Amino acid sequence: MAKAPPPSKPARGQWWEKEGVRFECQGSGKCCVSRGEYGFVYMTAKDRVAMTKAFNAKNGANLKTREFMDQYCEKTDGVWHLKETRANGDCVFLEGGNRCGVYEGRPSQCRTWPFWPEVMNAKTWKKEVSSFCPGIGKGRLYSPDEIRAIVSEQTKSEDDLVNGR
Ligand code: SF4
Repeated sequence: MAKAPPPSKPARGQWWEKEGVRFECQGSGKCCVSRGEYGFVYMTAKDRVAMTKAFNAKNGANLKTREFMDQYCEKTDGVWHLKETRANGDCVFLEGGNRCGVYEGRPSQCRTWPFWPEVMNAKTWKKEVSSFCPGIGKGRLYSPDEIRAIVSEQTKSEDDLVNGR
């Protein structure tokens, strides 16, 4: 899981644009554990600031963003992401009960999952996302407009990452 995300565009004329998608996080923690090419938790500059704030609030710490980055972040191929310090590749902030230890400051890719531009095509969705994420097909219906907005947010975040923002 060492690939920086390629810049991607919101999908057009895709299967989900007619009826939307039902999704509700089941708290499985599956998107927070090692998972092949989707493994790194990438961090834009905005994500790093937000996560530092959440980390400080949770731990009664007072780290500056740079100090937090020194401790928890590194760059691969010029793109910032969380260090993978656990032997099993799980996110370093995944806590017991599959809870996120920096939930209020979780980065864009965690907030926008599963509506990522690179997985919103029928083949990847069916083959990879549906079989991997237990929240797919459950809970409330996301309208095409809502999905489009989330995909756009994630697309912007990926653009920011590859452009060093
Ligand atoms: S930051 Fe939180 S939501 Fe994102 S992968 Fe880590 S534990 Fe999961």
